[in-house]
Amino acid sequence: MIPGPFELVRPGTVEDAVAALVEHGDDAKILAGGHSLLPLMKLRLAMPSVLIDIGRIPGLSYVRVEGDEVAIGAGTRHHELEKDPVAQAEVPILPYVASQVGDPQVRHRGTIGGTVAHSDPASDLPTALLALGGSVVAQGPDGRRSIPVTEFWLGFFETALEPDELVVELRVPRTGSAGWGYEKFTRRANDWPIVAAAAVEGRVALANMAGAVVRATATEEALARGASIEEAAALAAEGTSPSADMHADAEYRQHLARLLTRRALEKAAGAGAAAA
Ligand SMILES: Cc1cc2nc3c(=O)[nH]c(=O)nc-3n(C[C@H](O)[C@H](O)[C@H](O)COP(=O)(O)OP(=O)(O)OC[C@H]3O[C@@H](n4cnc5c(N)ncnc54)[C@H](O)[C@@H]3O)c2cc1C
Repeated sequence: MIPGPFELVRPGTVEDAVAALVEHGDDAKILAGGHSLLPLMKLRLAMPSVLIDIGRIPGLSYVRVEGDEVAIGAGTRHHELEKDPVAQAEVPILPYVASQVGDPQVRHRGTIGGTVAHSDPASDLPTALLALGGSVVAQGPDGRRSIPVTEFWLGFFETALEPDELVVELRVPRTGSAGWGYEKFTRRANDWPIVAAAAVEGRVALANMAGAVVRATATEEALARGASIEEAAALAAEGTSPSADMHADAEYRQHLARLLTRRALEKAAGAGAAAA
């Protein structure tokens, strides 16, 4: 399939990218790795008349410690995150989850900013970010603002971003050697998860159990009350509304949510990264 016609804009700075968003409004789309946007354009499910390619903006790809947090530039590709020594030492769930995204080609092109902004409920890194509990830094015409991850993903392809805002950075707490677990169930290697569960320090997030990635709040509350992992994980599907498709019906997804949550919590309680 061939995408509809579009104009390509290549800003050299984040400010120029924001100015292009302001100028072109709803007609424009940011192009990062293109691994979610271009398939949609080829199917003509997205038909932007202007693409703002942020791939050449310098300084958007980094992982660095800032106080109690790790800051990750929006342009950081999944492969870069997977191999980054700072991420491996300070927030090891993220490199592991990055290594589970798609295939090498996807990981060499896709960016963390792109997967965060895309808001596909089946995406891996947003699930881990939601369990980590950090924030998304957005830049618009009035400057930067920080949006907690718990308020960022609103629904299928829907986020708290304004139309003239760009994701420029992700900020997550440094977890160091604290235990974590990530469990992803796929039909074939390299696929998106049918369901996935991320567990970090008593917080649990699920992929593909609603219109957006969600926290398993009943499980978290049970853990906080001192329930066993088994009891808490049995509540993981509470309040979820998974879709049914050719891969799994809703009931099976809810079964997977309970099972994967238990496994993720067990890993988090055990050797953490080593258990992955
Ligand atoms: C074959 C294949 C397999 C895949 N498998 C998986 C998988 O297993 N797990 C998984 O999680 N994902 C998977 N993906 C998706 C992959 O992770 C994408 O790279 C990611 O979802 C989007 O990142 P991107 O940089 O390619 O964004 P793009 O495709 O360039 O953009 C996606 C959307 O986000 C917007 N956008 C991009 N960057 C920004 C920004 N900085 N600020 C504001 N808006 C922005 C764009 O306008 C667009 O709407 C797969 C993709 C493919 C093609």
